[in-house]
Amino acid sequence: MKRWTGALQNTYKTPTIVLVSGKGSLVKDSAGKAYLDFLAGIATNILGHAHPAVVKAINKQSSTLGHVSNFYAHPSALALAGKLRELTGDKTARTFFCNSGAEANEAALKLSRKTGRSKIVATQGSFHGRTMGSLSLTGQPNKQRAFLPLLPNIKHVPYGDVKAMKRAVNRRTAMVIVEPILGEAGVVVPPVGYLESLREICDHHGAILVFDCVQTGMGRTGDWFGYEYSGIRPDVITLAKGLGGGLPLGAMIAMGRAAQLFEPGDHGTTFGGNPIATAAGLAVIETLTKEKLLANSEVLGSFIMEEIALIPGVAEVRGAGLLIGIELKEPVADEITKLALVQGLLINAATDRTIRIAPALNISKKQAEKFISIFASLLNTISTKNSDVKSSGKGHNG
Ligand code: PLP
Repeated sequence: MKRWTGALQNTYKTPTIVLVSGKGSLVKDSAGKAYLDFLAGIATNILGHAHPAVVKAINKQSSTLGHVSNFYAHPSALALAGKLRELTGDKTARTFFCNSGAEANEAALKLSRKTGRSKIVATQGSFHGRTMGSLSLTGQPNKQRAFLPLLPNIKHVPYGDVKAMKRAVNRRTAMVIVEPILGEAGVVVPPVGYLESLREICDHHGAILVFDCVQTGMGRTGDWFGYEYSGIRPDVITLAKGLGGGLPLGAMIAMGRAAQLFEPGDHGTTFGGNPIATAAGLAVIETLTKEKLLANSEVLGSFIMEEIALIPGVAEVRGAGLLIGIELKEPVADEITKLALVQGLLINAATDRTIRIAPALNISKKQAEKFISIFASLLNTISTKNSDVKSSGKGHNG
């Protein structure tokens, strides 16, 4: 695509299609071809495309008051921060608004420095963003290598390993940051009791516990925040993706003693908590509640997981709600994703063997069934093709 390579930075693989419109979980490209969108802008369009409540909120807000900076208050940010406080169930919760997940984690990182400590423990395989601070937290050396040196004093321990976490955290630890379910790494669910152990370890050493719910927040897992099933609460929650229903909106919510650490002048952003983005965020929460979409996420997520697990070629299905990782027996995730695009289905290859789906939470049962049937036929096509190649000998080197 010449217009892309000629004018846009070379940071992403060059796309093969141009998307021009969307309604619910259907999008159309510039040639008029329709796609079933089971990636939703990477777990972001939580109500699908052009949801009337979000469109109405954006239109109303943009024609009333578009931007004011954080020198002044405005009703949407006040209301959304209040709603988020309610959803945490903690009256001390105070939100810092920003524009993305990376910025939410940057805010948590800076907040943790205000404890007077600087050591941080994160996990291997995690993804927390790509700005220099959030990249330092991200536990993926291949993404960090070209940008060394990053922030010092950050240790990455294996995800799900309580003993390793115990060894790494001490009285000098400012914060521990963990995703309740690893998203980008292929939807990895931690062992039972892991989040509870993190709470105990952090309490013991006085470290701040941050749950990065950028991908697992806003109902995606069937709860408002991806950690809730554990029954414990972190000191800080970071959010983005689904929060703005497609608009750039992030949040760092601190509770208890962590909520009191920042003072005026410590941190800020021009656009964070912008009236239009926060109006969209309010519409998202209202609609998720009114349309009972957390329950839909849980019910249809379980349905999809059960059905997909029966398809030959699938080794394992992991996840919660509508954040699902499908582990394949063969490393054909890329091939499947490309074929899916041709068949009119948007999904993502998280690793060479894992397909990630994160559709809108208001998908219908029919759309879930359609996804399952396309996915089954794609796997069948690929395994038939690959077994033909093997039996004709073409698959062998030399
Ligand atoms: N944290 C998690 C868990 C994520 O999945 C992502 C993005 O995929 C981020 C942080 C970074 O968010 P953003 O791309 O909005 O900066």
